[in-house]
Amino acid sequence: MLVTKHRLAASTPYATPYYMVRAARPGPVMMITAGIHGNETASMTAAQKLVNDCDTESDYIRRGLLIVVPRVNQQAYSRKIRGKPDMNRTFPRKKSGKATHPLASALFKLALKHHPDWWLDLHEANGLSQLSRNVLGQTLITNPGSSAIPACRRAIQRINRTIPRRDLHFNLKQHELPGSARTAANLVLQARSVTVETCWSLKRSDRIQYQSEMLHHFLKEARMI
Ligand SMILES: [Zn+2]
Repeated sequence: MLVTKHRLAASTPYATPYYMVRAARPGPVMMITAGIHGNETASMTAAQKLVNDCDTESDYIRRGLLIVVPRVNQQAYSRKIRGKPDMNRTFPRKKSGKATHPLASALFKLALKHHPDWWLDLHEANGLSQLSRNVLGQTLITNPGSSAIPACRRAIQRINRTIPRRDLHFNLKQHELPGSARTAANLVLQARSVTVETCWSLKRSDRIQYQSEMLHHFLKEARMI
């Protein structure tokens, strides 16, 4: 397994590192992004931690190619803001459409080059989905009818078994969000794209743990570990 570091949008003010993790054996391609919103920091830490684990444990990924962008919007992150405009509305809205943000454009070009089978986009949100259907904290989100739904249901079952408090359990939501990385990946790349949302009023260490566990479950689903 080989971990290499690269730069996305290298010649722009949005330059940000990304990592390619190549397993010894061929297999699926999975893209993992965090920090499309600059204030959702537990997801960024979890993505970076996965890269570090791959670096220290040489057989962590057994098959395929992992592409991780742990902190997409560095400018928003440095100010701990969501980012303006909201980058997660600037990805292609049609098959022939183009991204309207330089960073979204660079990220989507990277994806088009490698044709990910999976795209996990890590976020954080308000509220607990067990307590209100109007909030997104502790959810997985796919597009309606996505081929990722069975894997999401299994990942949720597995993680919920480890969470004693029922109000912190995860739920699945199916929602089309035009201009989001998830919906663009579904529409243009036909990738199994999933948004992971932890609740950011929880303890930071717990949020990192939930994000990391979800990554682990999906790597298993993709048979990459
Ligand atoms: Zn977000």
